[in-house]
Amino acid sequence: MIIDAHSHVGWNKIESGEDLIGNMDTYGIDQSIVHTWELQPSEIDDYDKATLSNSKGIRIGEVLRACSIFRDRLFPFYCPDPRKKNASLKIEESVFKHNIRGVGEFKFPVVLTSPECKRFFEVARANLLPILIHLEKPGLTYDNGGQNSYWSGGDFKEMIRVVRAFPEVQFIGHGPEVWRAIECRYMDRPELFPKGKIHNFCGDVFALVETENNFHLDISGYSGLNALYRMGELAPEFFNQYMDQIVFGRDNFTCVHQEFIDKLNLDPEVIRKIYHENITKLIGLEC
Ligand SMILES: [Zn+2]
Repeated sequence: MIIDAHSHVGWNKIESGEDLIGNMDTYGIDQSIVHTWELQPSEIDDYDKATLSNSKGIRIGEVLRACSIFRDRLFPFYCPDPRKKNASLKIEESVFKHNIRGVGEFKFPVVLTSPECKRFFEVARANLLPILIHLEKPGLTYDNGGQNSYWSGGDFKEMIRVVRAFPEVQFIGHGPEVWRAIECRYMDRPELFPKGKIHNFCGDVFALVETENNFHLDISGYSGLNALYRMGELAPEFFNQYMDQIVFGRDNFTCVHQEFIDKLNLDPEVIRKIYHENITKLIGLEC
């Protein structure tokens, strides 16, 4: 049983629920969580323009359409733009109207400790919704040069603050700034996706997982994959040590994360937890 905790429709050539299901069948994915990603026109860069089907990003309507057709395989997460009026009310309404399973993908240039986000976390707490957060800092260099101007949530210290301030809310961390924090001196590094092996678990991300059981790691996307590559021989220990708080996700509709995990020969218990049991608990589904 494999659940992809981080998926979309209307992005990267996956236009519809049918496309997503076809892709999942190709890679042996049983179920997926489908996230919205709302964007303001001024926030769309050339890459997003080329990969998004809709210039407004991924809206709740598209996600619900896909999930309503494939009810037993696709489950909706919804995250309205926190800068908009009534955003937290919209989340509450969609729990009752549309049976959303969580808040996500949070990917907005808003600091996690802002009053707008605080309201989100209060709604998540009241409705027992997990929240998936894309964390990204601006002004960092890409692998091929150039710098990112987009940012979301703030730096990892912001994540630490909100995870500790809302112990009843289940946070799922994702994105470059989460995975930069696997090494001790990540704040000094100028790269969005730093390279080089890590030799121990001294980064802030591990300290947060170890001390706060409401913080979970989504390994999806290039940022997650890059971190797994950087762990190298430490990767089995990473999965063994943090097995209760890691969730499998792809974000990019490929099988690269699965290939990495499957080569590690992890114990069946670890495999079960990361591939489906942890996310199943978070979204309140039966195993
Ligand atoms: Zn995503």
